[in-house]
Amino acid sequence: MDATAADEVVEICRDLLRIDTTNTGDPRTTVGERTAAEYVAERLDEVGIASELFESAPRRANLVARIPGADRSRGALLLHGHLDVVPADASEWSVHPFSGAERDGYLWGRGAIDMKDFDAMMLAVVRQWRRTGVTPPRDIVLCFTADEEAGMEYGSQWLVREHADLFTGCTEAIGEVGGFSYTVNDDLRLYLVETAEKGLDWLRLHARGRPGHGSFVHDDNAVTALAEAVARVGRHRFPMVVTPTVAAFLEQVSDAFGIELDPAEPEVAIAKLGPIANLIGATLRNTANPTRLDAGYKDNVIPGRASATIDCRTLPGQAEAFLEQLREVIGPDIEIEHISQQGAVETGFDGALVDAMAAALRAEDPGARAVPYMLSGGTDAKAFHTLGIRCFGFAPLRLPADLNFSALFHGVDERVPVEGLQFGVRVLDRLLQTS
Ligand SMILES: [Zn+2]
Repeated sequence: MDATAADEVVEICRDLLRIDTTNTGDPRTTVGERTAAEYVAERLDEVGIASELFESAPRRANLVARIPGADRSRGALLLHGHLDVVPADASEWSVHPFSGAERDGYLWGRGAIDMKDFDAMMLAVVRQWRRTGVTPPRDIVLCFTADEEAGMEYGSQWLVREHADLFTGCTEAIGEVGGFSYTVNDDLRLYLVETAEKGLDWLRLHARGRPGHGSFVHDDNAVTALAEAVARVGRHRFPMVVTPTVAAFLEQVSDAFGIELDPAEPEVAIAKLGPIANLIGATLRNTANPTRLDAGYKDNVIPGRASATIDCRTLPGQAEAFLEQLREVIGPDIEIEHISQQGAVETGFDGALVDAMAAALRAEDPGARAVPYMLSGGTDAKAFHTLGIRCFGFAPLRLPADLNFSALFHGVDERVPVEGLQFGVRVLDRLLQTS
């Protein structure tokens, strides 16, 4: 008998975990994306699905395939997953991070939840369709990307810039950080569907002063001016802004937990959520965190300039207002340079696709309730959104109640429950056949 998608998803995920696709952010030491993309191409080819490989630079491989649907006049659905992973230090792990070990009901390895699990689900579902003669209701575009973990320049951002035609007709997209369960009690699990992402704005601050000898009295020191501005930014709390997505999330959560929600102090409700509070807390306001400092070249020389990097994350619709507020905090004498900018993403939690997600979850877990949420970080959705595609994070996973899921992202001993993977493949199959 043929293997089912639920059998295959585990095998495929293990194979992918064993391919080291570490993205260090430096093209010279980033490995494996081409090998992983070729592996994906072979799994598709085995069942007669043609795919095309696109290299943005040597070995920086992206792969795209289109599966024709029954009604080709409908908008296509894009499914996307990145193949790269962040580095892992083997000495910190219980198992080797690229062993794909199966232990205690989990598959272990860097990328197990971010996001080779969903890559494997996509492959397992479409392979099963080919074996059993299923045609999806509408076109499905599969896209496997490079470089999600280091700015997407060689992956999704490059694809939408150079090969936008690959996504012609795509009206909606499904990718990572959503679809996982958060247990309220035995009879109720919230499944967080990502419908929004904060924007990203990396800024460099430049202070200038009068260079001079370190032994003199000196009242125009660039290092001092920069340090003062950086400290002000680092300690500043920007005002709370509750967006529609966060408002909907808070309403659902307070209902599920029976918490009285004080609209003036939603952080009180969020604090009661335990580990998941990390994921949500930063979506209530714009944030600015100093991350780098650079000044000076000798211990007894006052440099003429000093610079610092600030990692800013902005809520949908807030980028301009935020910049004005930040300018006030920094003061007039420091120059602000934009290094990297990616807009926020937000879509409504409505429509046939959302209904189908909720229904597919409930069919596999009668205690499931789908709720929208905003991710404070970023994903490939930022690139696909620029093509006018509605983007969702929905890589379905039913998780054990006591698993600290958010800590596993980029964390030590990243692992995915085997049963969760199999649950995910069933939900995804159902969703894709009914939307
Ligand atoms: Zn990811």
